[in-house]
Amino acid sequence: MHKPIENKVGPETFEGAASIYIHIPFCRTKCPYCSFVSYPGKNNDFIVRYMQTLVQQAEDMAAHPWTRARQFISLYVGGGTPSTVDSEVMADFIERCLAEFDFTSTEEQYPEVTMEVNPKTVNREMLRRLKQAGVNRLSIGVQSFSDTMLRLLGREHTAQDCFEVVGLARDADFKNISLDLMYGLPGQDLATWKNSLQAAVGLHPEHLSVYELTIEEGTPFAEQVSLGSLDIPGEGAVLAMYESARETLSESGYTQYEISNYARKGFRSIHNINYWENGSYIGLGCGAFSCFSGVRIQNDEDPERFMKKLMIKQKPYKDGEFLPLEARFRESVVMGLRMTEGVSIARLRRRYGITPGRYYGKTLKDLIEQGLLEEKHNMLRLTKRGMTLANRIMARLV
Ligand code: SF4
Repeated sequence: MHKPIENKVGPETFEGAASIYIHIPFCRTKCPYCSFVSYPGKNNDFIVRYMQTLVQQAEDMAAHPWTRARQFISLYVGGGTPSTVDSEVMADFIERCLAEFDFTSTEEQYPEVTMEVNPKTVNREMLRRLKQAGVNRLSIGVQSFSDTMLRLLGREHTAQDCFEVVGLARDADFKNISLDLMYGLPGQDLATWKNSLQAAVGLHPEHLSVYELTIEEGTPFAEQVSLGSLDIPGEGAVLAMYESARETLSESGYTQYEISNYARKGFRSIHNINYWENGSYIGLGCGAFSCFSGVRIQNDEDPERFMKKLMIKQKPYKDGEFLPLEARFRESVVMGLRMTEGVSIARLRRRYGITPGRYYGKTLKDLIEQGLLEEKHNMLRLTKRGMTLANRIMARLV
């Protein structure tokens, strides 16, 4: 199990060890449901220039007094599609980050170094080079094992590509593989979903992230929904898919440790747990967030502006805010409740001097009486029923 390291340094007297997120905003095409900061069609020269700028931001961040006093436990390269970057360029960058920041914890499970890959954009040599550079966890964007669903989602890869990429990753000695799957897809029924789940389990990944498709404003899918031309499964069907994932994965030896995440013993995502524990992290790359000591900053989302600002020695930020103590407390509660273990009341008290019982009063009491939340062994957590209504519960606590 993930053991947080408590770094007793910095402006706060109690702040966890930190993570680094690196955003690679490039994709070969734009999926019609996607609202991430991602840009299709950028050429290799542009991508290389972006990676050079990232090195500069990494060096600037590593020199910051807050960062110098900190130990890091995870590095996560996400996107976008990080595997669109030339593997040598990416490997050099990862090696540089691992050298610039203090990743020297003696605990065996650290650092966790994850890279997201798309089945269509990796090959054997690339995986070997990434492994050599220090990547020890792959997150593969499978989404579905149905070619019909994959076409509908605008994905370039096929189910066969997914089978092959897992084989290549095992050949390259990756011992920690996570697969992303999506349910609630247009035209998807329970049987199709169960086939995808079974195919995923058959590949024996150490970790699975299982997300419901959400229709994001401004995407082609949102437009199709408003025109009534997209056949999205109803609430009951989506709930049945969620329940079937819980059942199938639990029968196959996976433990659900967060609303959408399942792992074999010893393979929970250290990076994501730090995020759900509202720990500290810094974000490199356009659109990425940093959050430490109550400060939250977002980098400029536009890669051109992001690069230009760094080139002329300006901070590459879009926004920044200082979160008051109570706002940080509420965030810690809401994020922590995503995990099946829940949020530690003792930890909340130590970090903020506030407990959920005192702060939320009757709202919390009602949620407990309705069987949606429970308090056990000094942990506050969602009940099994509460997990299925998590968004509504969070809305009352945020
Ligand atoms: S591959 Fe991922 S980031 Fe890129 S467009 Fe598709 S959903 Fe968005």
